Amino acid sequence: MIRLPDPTVRSAAPTRPAGLSGLADQFGRVARDLRVSVTDRCNLRCTYCMPAEGLPWLPKPDMLTDEELVRVVGLFVRDGITQVRLTGGEPLLRRSLVDVVDAIAALDPRPRIAMTTNGVGLDRLARPLADAGLDRVNVSLDTIDSETFTHLTRRDRLSDVEAGLKAAADAGLTPVKVNAVAMRGINDTDVADVLAWCLDRGYELRFIEQMPLDAQHAWDRDDMVSADEIRDRLSERFTLTPLPAADRGSAPAERFLVDGGPATVGIIASVTQPFCAACDRTRLTADGQVRNCLFSTTETDLRGPMREGATDDELLGLIRGEMWRKRRGHGIDDPDFVQPDRPMSAIGG
Ligand code: SAM
Repeated sequence: MIRLPDPTVRSAAPTRPAGLSGLADQFGRVARDLRVSVTDRCNLRCTYCMPAEGLPWLPKPDMLTDEELVRVVGLFVRDGITQVRLTGGEPLLRRSLVDVVDAIAALDPRPRIAMTTNGVGLDRLARPLADAGLDRVNVSLDTIDSETFTHLTRRDRLSDVEAGLKAAADAGLTPVKVNAVAMRGINDTDVADVLAWCLDRGYELRFIEQMPLDAQHAWDRDDMVSADEIRDRLSERFTLTPLPAADRGSAPAERFLVDGGPATVGIIASVTQPFCAACDRTRLTADGQVRNCLFSTTETDLRGPMREGATDDELLGLIRGEMWRKRRGHGIDDPDFVQPDRPMSAIGG
């Protein structure tokens, strides 16, 4: 049974100085990118993410309603968020997703709206989502081998993902990005095949190092496929030319031109070369908790205060306080590192 953190627990940290504006933290970073988990449910069961039987999903009354969710996103936008990324769980499983996108697109100033999805069902929803205001998608796809896909996700849905990707491109949700996690003994030897497949179709591929965020707490650093290893494997088939680091900004991926370009591939070394110093992200869970980091072991509850009648300014005070407490780094390498109780699927990846 997964235990979610007690939302009343706050980390001890200096209080935010009066007069500061925006979503700043103690280390000079300012959040601009909000990840919103719209549901913790998923229709795949990726072995590195959750057990075959799924997880104890959030009861509906614990989840933010559309109105609550859009109200909170509006507060973040008022305080400087310029990009909202919808995720989950699987965001396409939220029935009202098109309405949510429509309402976020109506905020002033209008944030850019992106979504991270496994792509199942996107063939139907790409067009309505684009019409409602969705700007871009990242589709998670770790392998293009149908047997490996079925083994890895415990579902035979590769053709649905392919159809979803194509529909996203047809609907103009471009550049269509593909996110892949390389895992030893599962798909680590196939990374160049995935890149060739994406290049053929005009999708921009990014590999992400596997992080200790699995519900089973089975992550093992020694077994992790590192960014260097992924680069070496890709280099066996392609010539990779690093793009200048200055072009990277707060983007987590180190990008390479493939065979002289213009196509690129990205590698996100979240574990071996953390980019916390440039992090401009913050997160809202489907049950209304603000998390200042993927690896945070504390969070700030907005749902309770909101349902008890908190004003916008009071909620903004809670959001700012949570951001101010953001730690310098994710601490995966610290001897006292503790994996968060919430798995990736309940945080919003
Ligand atoms: N269901 C959506 C999807 O598949 O894109 C959104 C949620 S999913 C948790 C978001 C991303 O997190 C996926 O690309 C998935 O591969 C990635 N992910 C899940 N567990 C991970 C882990 N332990 N380390 C790195 N990435 C992980």
